[in-house]
Amino acid sequence: MSSEKYWNPILETLPQEKLKELQFKKFQNILKWAYKNSPFYHSLYVKAGLEPGDIKTPDDIWKVPKTEKSMLRTAQGKEPYPYGDILSVPLRQVTEYRQTSGTTGQPVYHPETWQDWEWSAESWAYALYAHGYRDYDRVFMPFGYSINIAFWAGHYGAEKIGCEVVPGGVLNTEARILKMKELEATALMATPTYILGMADVAKSKLGIDPAKDLYIKKITCAGEPGACIPATKKRMEEMWGAKVYDQVGATEIGHWGYECQAQAGLHVLEAFHLIEIEDVETGAAITEPGKRGSMVITTFDRFAHPCIRFDSKDIIEWNPVEKCECGRTFRLLKGGVIGRADDITKVKGVLLAPTAIEEVVRSIPELGAEYEAIVTKKGDIDDITLKVEIIPDFKHNIDAIEQKLAQQLRLKTSLRYNLELHDYGTLPRYDVKAKRFKDLRPKE
Ligand SMILES: [Zn+2]
Repeated sequence: MSSEKYWNPILETLPQEKLKELQFKKFQNILKWAYKNSPFYHSLYVKAGLEPGDIKTPDDIWKVPKTEKSMLRTAQGKEPYPYGDILSVPLRQVTEYRQTSGTTGQPVYHPETWQDWEWSAESWAYALYAHGYRDYDRVFMPFGYSINIAFWAGHYGAEKIGCEVVPGGVLNTEARILKMKELEATALMATPTYILGMADVAKSKLGIDPAKDLYIKKITCAGEPGACIPATKKRMEEMWGAKVYDQVGATEIGHWGYECQAQAGLHVLEAFHLIEIEDVETGAAITEPGKRGSMVITTFDRFAHPCIRFDSKDIIEWNPVEKCECGRTFRLLKGGVIGRADDITKVKGVLLAPTAIEEVVRSIPELGAEYEAIVTKKGDIDDITLKVEIIPDFKHNIDAIEQKLAQQLRLKTSLRYNLELHDYGTLPRYDVKAKRFKDLRPKE
């Protein structure tokens, strides 16, 4: 089994036409399930004058009303407590409670049945297998095993493949690094922020160079966009001497995309999800590559808390590469999740995605990985300040670095910034979801 290329050789190489047929059948199935078993979905569809039988071809899918996070929050105020009327199974079938991290407001509560949980582990197994995880790997999990879903399903997905999984739960960063070294762990899962932070701690506090002194050969990143931002990926790969792969998911949606060995973008796990891309301003469907829009996603085969045409606000675009060299037929996105519709904002009349700032900062080797961008308003005019850290060896060259940074920012984001170059180690460090972009302008 370990010499095979795919976790599921049939589904991962199914011709697109067959895949589309399968997706449509699964779409109809989950639609019927939700209509019948969830009072929330039932009343949403009744109000729209829609019955599942009205969706006769894939071209009808757009008629199904979209859902979004605020609707999930409102629904969870209803019975049964605490999940509300989206819940589509008897409460006694729920075997696990999770909640979203709440970075964009009140957390959403998420129920898992054992069947849905097995589905989550299976979806992670597709990703990890594509990243090269096999039954001879010892995988270290440096996360808190908390109330949030985070890497929980990654743990079970790795076990499902047959890896040996080490839960590094309550240990602090230094103890985790020492344990990885002692056990000669070969793979690791964490957010890009924590991957960079751990390498920093290993070097500065323990005198350990992760690229030379540890045994990690592959790293799976999730939770933040970083692993698909070329400069951030390169920095992580150099620091760890390992291949870094992206994997994306969200509590409400499940795990829906992963990179393969070709690292040519994210494969959408199309056997488990339907992805539509919509123009953020007009709502028109985007089917061609090269045009960005907001992701509308449907999750199949996960029945306790159905996710149907959910507007995730993730900004994505189709990749022009039609056939990936890995042989998978699941379609590719270009550059993973580019940002969130909520984060993309107009500054001085120019559309700005915070990930573009990250790409610039992390492509300059004289700068540390941390940065902070702050947008304010002076009178009627927007003002943007960027704080970065300079690596001590390059302090003598500060003017030239500042000039390079300003030029690159102007080129990549079409904006001028007030630049602040700080000493290394003085900006805030984050363990989980980093908040590096702050928009302090008064809300209109
Ligand atoms: Zn591929």
